[in-house]
Formats: sequence, structure tokens, C-alpha cells
Amino acid sequence: MATVNVTCLCGREFSLDAALAGNSFPCPTCNRRLVVPDDTAATRHPSPAALTTTIAAPGLEPPAPKRRTPAWALIGGVGVIAVALAIAVPQGVKRWHEFRVTKLEQEQRDLPRKQQERQQELERQVRQGQTQLAITGPAALQAGATNTYMIEAKTLAGDDTDAKYTLRLLDKNGKEVSHDEREAKGKFG
Ligand SMILES: [Zn+2]
Repeated sequence: MATVNVTCLCGREFSLDAALAGNSFPCPTCNRRLVVPDDTAATRHPSPAALTTTIAAPGLEPPAPKRRTPAWALIGGVGVIAVALAIAVPQGVKRWHEFRVTKLEQEQRDLPRKQQERQQELERQVRQGQTQLAITGPAALQAGATNTYMIEAKTLAGDDTDAKYTLRLLDKNGKEVSHDEREAKGKFG
């Protein structure tokens, strides 16, 4: 007579009459319900199959789809980044360019004013440093008379300034007749 083998999850094996196929019985060791299969080849281990479903439900099914990022999502993500860059980069460049232009324009605006200030300061210093001599008196010496000459020293800005005067009186032959050195402010005669 034909027998079917049933192995319980607890490891206990049963050799049963094939005529009992379809009936269930409790395992004497672990009390699991075992079903006698009608085909020895097809379902030798009915109980492990049941266990697999128990494990599969909470454990294997949910993580699988989560771990895989769909290709369209990746492509979409890359596309979004590319678009964001395409927008952000020209704007960044534009903003930087605008900043540069603004800065340059400001520098250009400041430049003439700074130059002008420097120029004015320079001219002022030159005017302060340079002196003008104004000599007033007779064009030719008059013999027998007192010849008065007025010498004025002024800065180019028009202020009286200290000056060291060297007065040399020469005769027709270029011979020095008198020599006078003095320092004075402004005019003296
Ligand atoms: Zn058992």
C-alpha cells in the first residue's frame, strides 16, 4: 500500500497511508495541525509553506519596493536638478555681473571726483609753495634821486608769504655796488 511522508516543522516524520490524503491530524510532539497530502511529490512539506507565508507578509514584502528607487524618479530628480542649475547658474552669473557693473560704475563715478580733488589739492600745494615776486619801481635808476622799489612776495594763492630776499645792486658793467640780504614777510621797500 502506498504511503506518503509528512515531515512536521518540529522535525518529526510521519509515514502515512495515502488513503488518508486530505485528512488533518495534530502532531503528537508539537501539536501543529498536519494535513496528509494526496501526492507525495507535490507537497511533501505543507507546514513550511504555511510558515513562509507568515514570514513573508510582514518581513519581505514592504522593504523590497522601498529600497528600489524607480528609474523615472531618478531621471526626474536629475532633470529637476539640471533645470534648477540652468535657472540658478545664469541668475548667479547675471547677479554677479550686475554687481560688477554696479561696482565699476560707482568706481567710474568716484574716479573723476577723486581725480579732481587730487588735482585741486595738488594745485593748492603748488600755489602755496610757489611765490610770486612783484617789483614796482622806476624802470631806470634816476641819478641823484632816491629810487624806491617795492618788492612783494605772494603765494600763487594770493597770500603773503615769507621770503628771503637777496638784493644786489649792480653798475652798468655788472659790478656789484651793494649787496643786501634780508628776510621779510609780504612786501618791503
Ligand atoms: Zn510536530
